[in-house]
Amino acid sequence: MKPLTEQEIRAAFLNCTKGEAKRLSVPRDLADRPWDDLDFLGWRDPQGPDRAYLVTEGEGRPKALALRCPSPASWQPRRSMCSMCLTTHTGGVSLMVAPKAGKAGQQGDSVGAYFCADLACSLYVRGKKDAGIGGRLHESLTTEEKIQRTVANVAAFIAKVTA
Ligand SMILES: [Zn+2]
Repeated sequence: MKPLTEQEIRAAFLNCTKGEAKRLSVPRDLADRPWDDLDFLGWRDPQGPDRAYLVTEGEGRPKALALRCPSPASWQPRRSMCSMCLTTHTGGVSLMVAPKAGKAGQQGDSVGAYFCADLACSLYVRGKKDAGIGGRLHESLTTEEKIQRTVANVAAFIAKVTA
């Protein structure tokens, strides 16, 4: 994806208030992120371990989501699979819950999905980050096809949040 600025990221949030989008933690090292290898940028909030965020490109403009994740104690210690990039981790997959956009979210509606706990799906798919033995299923898909699948899964998740 193309590199984004802090301002662009803050303006892209779909499921939190403008005030929240202004205050939340955006990584300070945006210029050093491996944008060429990212389908989305995800990060955990250093000030709030139960918060995470992601931003991706959708229909010509960036789209960002605020996510809640359970405390580390309730992470699943067993092997589980990220539902975005289909990488399997032992204890490294986290349920991320996004409040729905708009009125539904204000009324407490949310959408959940399993993500790599470090939100580095793009790097696992490209083999730039190692998930350990058995982390990647042996598949006949090309890397490009796996990337497309991850992009489609993230887009579907965002669509559910904004539905
Ligand atoms: Zn993943």
